[in-house]
Amino acid sequence: MIREPMTSFCYMDISGQVRGRGFPTSVLEKRLASGVGWTPTNIMFTPLGTIAPSPFGPFGDLKLHADRNAEANVDFGDGSPKEHFFLCDVFETNGSRWDCCPRNLLRSAAADLKREAGVTLRVAFEHEFFYSGARGRVGDMYALDGVRRHGAFGETFLAALGQCGILPDSYQSEFGEGQFEVSFPPEEPLTACDKAIILREMARGTAWRLSHTVSFSPRMSPASIGNGLHIHMSLWDEAGLPISHDPKGPRGVSATAGKFLAGVLKYMPAICAFTAPTPVSYLRLVPHMWSAAWSSLGYRDREAGIRICPTFDTFQSSTAEQFNFEYRAADASACPYIQLAAIVRAGLAGLKEGLPTPEPLVEQDPGAFTDAERQRRGIVRLPATLGAALDALDADATVKGFVPPLFLKAYLANKRAELALSKDWTPDEICNRYSEVF
Ligand code: GLU
Ligand code: MG
Repeated sequence: MIREPMTSFCYMDISGQVRGRGFPTSVLEKRLASGVGWTPTNIMFTPLGTIAPSPFGPFGDLKLHADRNAEANVDFGDGSPKEHFFLCDVFETNGSRWDCCPRNLLRSAAADLKREAGVTLRVAFEHEFFYSGARGRVGDMYALDGVRRHGAFGETFLAALGQCGILPDSYQSEFGEGQFEVSFPPEEPLTACDKAIILREMARGTAWRLSHTVSFSPRMSPASIGNGLHIHMSLWDEAGLPISHDPKGPRGVSATAGKFLAGVLKYMPAICAFTAPTPVSYLRLVPHMWSAAWSSLGYRDREAGIRICPTFDTFQSSTAEQFNFEYRAADASACPYIQLAAIVRAGLAGLKEGLPTPEPLVEQDPGAFTDAERQRRGIVRLPATLGAALDALDADATVKGFVPPLFLKAYLANKRAELALSKDWTPDEICNRYSEVF
């Protein structure tokens, strides 16, 4: 059969989907110069296949301009079409950046963190997902046999990632039947998000070629374990030195990192609207699911809003270099640029407000996990529904200021429309529907 190689320019929108336009690869150089046309209302697509009431209506035009550093170009070697796409920034027709460009929300948040606080962030995403082709057996949690039973998926997926310049840190069978986890080493924020998006697409692309599907949805069914997206972060100064760690700080947290984390925790209930942005997100953020139910800083605690991760004396890198924090109230139904922009802005607010380092919750602390103790420490239960998270966002003037007013308007309208569509669905229906989408 005849075939013309095709390349696409894409972006990830509010609904957490990668969308864009393709063209013959033969005109790639021309397209890299000119971009491809786009429409403002496209950012109002919901993950449920509808368009939310749009502040843009049928009007206006935009351009998607590719970032040459955000390219996926993979030949699976099975005769199927190559996966060839670039992730893009969104521009106005006059060449200025669009206020609702998700990538630019993160770029400007990271730039402000550097300019206003002299801090850069290094970020690593840890993804969990289910693969439909891995028939599990009772008791195979984290089992080698789990990896064996998913056949060629793992190695093909890793090869596809390799062709995109992504070298995973680890790949393993997870707790759930047919659940797997993949993580990659720290990167600067924009690259980390690009890689997270490419990784999800490569997982889908691999599964599709094997006549199966993957799902990164936060909860596949009310009976299953959740799919977390854990966002590892560390702080670095302008000279490129690690500044998260201070051996004299509480559980090793430096004063600078303490302010950053205090900001993230202070604004966590409201930024959940960005980091856990769908109704199904809140079927995961419940106690005793090893996810995150509280706005707490936990020392090596996998149920804290933010976990202080372990360091190992046996590693070649220093404790200061290894020291990092894991934001756990996040999932892959979010657009990572928006998610991380909100976290960066909250951390920067904490730095500017000079907030004190939160007292880390430690397993051995007597009574640390009681309601009274949480109240004393200012720890709150995270929103229990998307509606509550959107209300928390809408009620928080500081967090609303984390994004341009036009984006905030579009975001709230989009998410409220999604909520209205799903408001009468049972937990089973919510899980079923979103497991197909993500
Ligand atoms: N599956 C858990 C979650 O939903 C995470 C398990 C782990 O700590 O790896 O976040
Ligand atoms: Mg895990």
